Amino acid sequence: MRLCEKIMEIYTVGGFSEVGRNMTAIKVGGDTIILDMGLYLPKIIDFEEEGGERKLLDAESLIKIGAIPNDRVLDHIKDSVRAIVIGHCHLDHLGAAPYLANKYNAPIIGTPYTIQVLKKAVSDEADALKIKNHFEVVESNSSYKAGNIEIELVHITHSTPQSTMVVLHTEEGVVVYANDFKFDNHPVLEKEPNYHRLKQLGEKGVKALIVESLYAHEHRKTPSERVAKEMLKEVLLDTKNNNNGVFVTTFASHIARLDSIVEHGKKMGRKVVFLGRSLAKYVNAAEDIKLVNFSKNVDIVGYKRKVKKKLKIIDKKGRENYLVVCTGNQAEPGSILNEIASDNLPLKFRPDDSVIFSSRTIPVPINIKNRERLENTLKKKKVRIFKEVHVSGHASREDFRDLIDMLKPEHIFPSHGPEELQKNLADLAKEMGYSLGKNVHLSKNGERFEIKS
Ligand SMILES: [Zn+2]
Ligand SMILES: [Zn+2]
Repeated sequence: MRLCEKIMEIYTVGGFSEVGRNMTAIKVGGDTIILDMGLYLPKIIDFEEEGGERKLLDAESLIKIGAIPNDRVLDHIKDSVRAIVIGHCHLDHLGAAPYLANKYNAPIIGTPYTIQVLKKAVSDEADALKIKNHFEVVESNSSYKAGNIEIELVHITHSTPQSTMVVLHTEEGVVVYANDFKFDNHPVLEKEPNYHRLKQLGEKGVKALIVESLYAHEHRKTPSERVAKEMLKEVLLDTKNNNNGVFVTTFASHIARLDSIVEHGKKMGRKVVFLGRSLAKYVNAAEDIKLVNFSKNVDIVGYKRKVKKKLKIIDKKGRENYLVVCTGNQAEPGSILNEIASDNLPLKFRPDDSVIFSSRTIPVPINIKNRERLENTLKKKKVRIFKEVHVSGHASREDFRDLIDMLKPEHIFPSHGPEELQKNLADLAKEMGYSLGKNVHLSKNGERFEIKS
């Protein structure tokens, strides 16, 4: 008689061959947990550039163009899925949920902010995108039982609020899903990471760590968000701009960064305005759950028609009285920054106005091209450009070393990028005594791994 072998199965569904469309599944016994359902935005942009219409894309065609994970690899275990956990609100982690989640008879789990953003994303889109799954709001540093697996959300710092490391307590051991994180000991809005719990988990024993590898090649510790706040202060408050317009753009979901900008804006004695749909969406979600109260001091204007009106007022009353925060950190066509630069809005740039990019260009060809075009336009208009007034929300090599040291996982699966990036994390793991193929595993989308106890 063959003994029933106990195993943990790990499915690397998406985000292991590109930076985007993250999705992993863990199966132990009769229970499967899905971690993230993300989008790979560049593929949608490519599709639109070639004349395609985004609204026409259904799950099938999105999989075909590589914009969302190909979850057919889970078809045979579909009925065992007990929960879909979203670690944080970024699009590369939740953007595919409106297309894929309905396939699974399971709740969607996340922190209040993550779930609020997901609900807003769905209500924003066409009627076709109705998520039928039950939403289960779970606070950071608490747990939810799904089948025989306990799902724990451990508070971590990143570049958007209420980000978590997802911990699965299974009969075959503990899995830690660390996508995405940084170790910020001086965050500006929230608490520092829950190191206490991470250390406890390390002492208890961690079977597998699935961890991002984006900057595993950067030999440093990622600076705190406090540093970005200081950088912004220098540009906003210590640069001569009294009589000129000042425009800042940043990631719409970076609520802590927006909080710093608002604080500096007040010190400048200027009225702060937020312009653009995605800014309004993420800020409203944060206000819905009482995370911040920007509306008290800030005018938040989402729709184009109202943005036009607001810009007319700013032009009339004098731009030197305002700090304009707007969409367009990736120079996206249609974003407010791009529209102002293209003279499509009632307010036009003047020489010596400042444009501050509190962001980094995501290095995909389309973004690089858009950004170059925008900068050239701004330069022609003699606008002052301040680039990369920003620090990353992702861990660097020395943060990864600390994480691995804390958790002492038996197995490591580098993730959140293709093999070239995964290799950098594997190199670090090798330095720390792990060996490739034995307990560090490189993977591609759609693979299945077994860990035997
Ligand atoms: Zn990510
Ligand atoms: Zn993220």
